[in-house]
Amino acid sequence: PNCIFCKIVSGELPSRRIYEDERAVAFLDIAAWHRGHSLVVPKRHVPDIITGSGSLSEIAAAVDAVARLLKHRLAADGINLLLSAGDAAGQEVFHTHMHVVPRYADEPGLRRLINPGAAPDGELESVYRQIQAGA
Ligand code: AMP
Ligand code: ZN
Repeated sequence: PNCIFCKIVSGELPSRRIYEDERAVAFLDIAAWHRGHSLVVPKRHVPDIITGSGSLSEIAAAVDAVARLLKHRLAADGINLLLSAGDAAGQEVFHTHMHVVPRYADEPGLRRLINPGAAPDGELESVYRQIQAGA
């Protein structure tokens, strides 16, 4: 299929990749809700977790690793995980992905998760460098 996340996995489309294992890839979300917001996707194309064969187990280990990576490298105070399956749930890209969202004490709470304050210019690049620098 003509899928942007398949193209990111294959390298046909650029991304800020922060983690990879045999079955999954993680990269920074282009429109971050909070500093370091990342997506973990299975390498094979699966539209969502409730159609086809289950894809959650394929990304589980990577989600664990990415949550810890972001917490340590970015000194996050907490992490939210969010996964949407289906139009009604707000899914926009139909290739399974887990949002791994670092949270900081100055902007706490679930209500703030997807309604953050504006990110400063250049944040994506600076956060990417900060994650790489700890490698
Ligand atoms: P969802 O609403 O759960 O389907 O989330 C899709 C997410 O993919 C959104 O948070 C987008 O900002 C993100 N996204 C879309 N295109 C790209 C891209 N090329 N690179 C990184 N993240 C992307
Ligand atoms: Zn795909």
